[in-house]
Amino acid sequence: MLSKDSENKSGPKIVLSKRSMAIDDSVFKLALGLPKDVISLTAGEPDFPSSDFVNIAAKKAMDDNFTHYTSSNGISELRRAISKKLKIDNKLDYGEDEIVVSPGSSSSIFLLLFGLADRGDEVIIPDPAWFHYSILSELAGLKPVRFNMFKEDGIRIEAADIEEKVTNKTKLMILNTPANPTGHVLTRSELEEVAGVAERNNITVISDEIYEKILYDDHRHISLGSLNGMKERSITVNGLSKGYAMMGWRVGYAASTIEISEKLTSLLGYTMVCAGSVAQKAAIEALENPRSKDYVKKMVETWSRRRKIVINYVENNSDLMTFTAPEGTFYGWINLSKSGMDGNEFSKVLLKEYKVGVMPGYLFGESGKDFVRISFATDDNSVDEGMKRIEKCLREHRK
Ligand code: PMP
Repeated sequence: MLSKDSENKSGPKIVLSKRSMAIDDSVFKLALGLPKDVISLTAGEPDFPSSDFVNIAAKKAMDDNFTHYTSSNGISELRRAISKKLKIDNKLDYGEDEIVVSPGSSSSIFLLLFGLADRGDEVIIPDPAWFHYSILSELAGLKPVRFNMFKEDGIRIEAADIEEKVTNKTKLMILNTPANPTGHVLTRSELEEVAGVAERNNITVISDEIYEKILYDDHRHISLGSLNGMKERSITVNGLSKGYAMMGWRVGYAASTIEISEKLTSLLGYTMVCAGSVAQKAAIEALENPRSKDYVKKMVETWSRRRKIVINYVENNSDLMTFTAPEGTFYGWINLSKSGMDGNEFSKVLLKEYKVGVMPGYLFGESGKDFVRISFATDDNSVDEGMKRIEKCLREHRK
């Protein structure tokens, strides 16, 4: 009889597939694996809990035993609430049958990529952009093609930069405003550039508007689908994670045509079945309760104060770092090229010697090589102390 040890040595070993091995896990290791004594400026989520009235609605749903599967596209009461929200906030006219609720917006994005393009088709994605877009495209068998948004004088979309990347395989494009990681809010004229490219080349745009409520100064969010002729060429994706601080509830949605919604419902039904029943009830409360407006206002005021701390540090150390102040989101996209270090090298030294965690910019695309992304969705002291150590690290290690 074999001993346990020899069984382990010679017995069958479960191995990972080649395609899963090809996926970069470093983001998750970085975000989840920070030691306790490290100041983390990596968070991609509000540092606020969901509001009390949302929690009460969820408790009521549980007491009412609203704990069964729901229809795969979500309960109609929630889809009606989303339809109303899209009209009021975004000037978008979608009926409840043109909306699909999903477990978070990430799953909507993945299933749309799967459902709207075939193996080998190309998806145009900004550079820099949230790393999920290119990984999810690859998982769906598509080829991510990046276009550069970084200009000497800031971050901007220009039609020519996108058009240069269009081939006869281009099917989709992903747009994100306000944007992770840059905090850039697309202006009407930038959106018009995108609309022109989509029209001329018959491209469908997935518009990820998850940060729409997190805006500073006088920046305003405009939905791509509200531009003339763009409702037919775009799909609006959004969710309750950021604007309502409901990250863990996992509620997102996509608004498109009835035909696409039906396919999305079936893809969702086969893979994730439906968003959580209790979470859907909580989401209705978040969308319908007028106190949600005050809640997001309170969060944005808090982040606005921390954003100023970051701006002050960057401006007072312009010999070491530069950036375009974020117009929305809770991220700072900091260029370190003046220090002579790239973002990856810097973030490693910063973590090891100064105990601050940031996201190296290369994760967001090639144009991010000299950058790091910091999140100021954490307490004031951590932002202040984190920035102080970033400055110290840059001074002591500059080349
Ligand atoms: N889009 C962007 C740009 C994000 O940064 C995130 C979260 N970090 C999401 C979508 C996903 O949000 P969720 O799945 O929680 O709706």
